[in-house]
Amino acid sequence: MAVTGSDLSVAKEFLIKGELVAIPTETVYGLAGNALNEKAVLSIFEAKNRPAFDPLIIHTDSIDKAAIYVADIPDKARVLASRFWPGPLTLLLPKRQIVPDLVTSGLDTVAVRIPNHALTLQLLSQLSFPLAAPSANPFGYISPTKPEHVDQQLGERIPYILDGGECEVGIESTILGFENDETIVYRLGGLDINEIESLIGPVVLMPHSTSDPKAPGMLKSHYAPRKPLHLYRRDDIVPGSAETGYLMFDRYLEGADRKYQRLLSPNRDLKEAAHNLFAYLRELDTLPVLEIKAELVPSQGLGLAINDRLQRASVPATA
Ligand code: AMP
Ligand code: MG
Repeated sequence: MAVTGSDLSVAKEFLIKGELVAIPTETVYGLAGNALNEKAVLSIFEAKNRPAFDPLIIHTDSIDKAAIYVADIPDKARVLASRFWPGPLTLLLPKRQIVPDLVTSGLDTVAVRIPNHALTLQLLSQLSFPLAAPSANPFGYISPTKPEHVDQQLGERIPYILDGGECEVGIESTILGFENDETIVYRLGGLDINEIESLIGPVVLMPHSTSDPKAPGMLKSHYAPRKPLHLYRRDDIVPGSAETGYLMFDRYLEGADRKYQRLLSPNRDLKEAAHNLFAYLRELDTLPVLEIKAELVPSQGLGLAINDRLQRASVPATA
């Protein structure tokens, strides 16, 4: 059983020994191991049941340290990194040989990020290696935003969960890559695309794929609860049977039991909605319901990333 605590020296010791530790970030909890130690990296894939073709993000605490692992930081990437790191932005950059192929699933780019969480930044500053850290959940399930989420599902498989409270942003990082002159969004996430475009100009959105091994974070089905989730446009959602849970944006659905309903943000605040999204999906998944109905949120700012997650959490028929 994992111990949950906020002792950096304990976390550090496990990581130095090549063991795994769950770490808090502002996006979601990560399942961290020494990114330069192949055995540690392999055990991340094993603990999560993650297919080897799904590359990991490496986490560090400064742009200078990132430069040890990447061969080039293009100008646009540097502009974004200086503005948004530490923060929910992951950059795909050409990897140096020091990064094991296992981390990048054999790709010649590596995903890098500086997370914005005081405890984890402190931990990273004390380590002589970067941390490979995918979300700390079994592959395909809802990402964890509280230490107890990690404990419920991976507690048997890891020795320590570094407790940094609830994740503030609540959805994964925005992933950007650079090809020729284009900036490509591989995954919508915690950073508003408008903010990115206001700094570096227009970006290109990469569509989802069911099998493209280049970017498995784009898998069509992901982040899914165990109960089937049916997704609706805002005005199209109607009450189902008595055994239905509801994920609503800002107001209760008339005619359905309120104890089976969760409101992402009564104030219509998309930041608050993102923060609550995964925790509420988990709550609904554990209620005595047979299915979950969810409504799309407004498609602007963080709403795009929220709707992306809802779409991939939903059953294909209504996706
Ligand atoms: P997770 O850490 O669980 O949020 O997943 C990380 C995601 O980052 C993966 O599923 C990939 O989609 C993406 N990723 C990481 N490295 C690369 C890469 N080199 N090229 C493309 N996508 C990547
Ligand atoms: Mg994940």
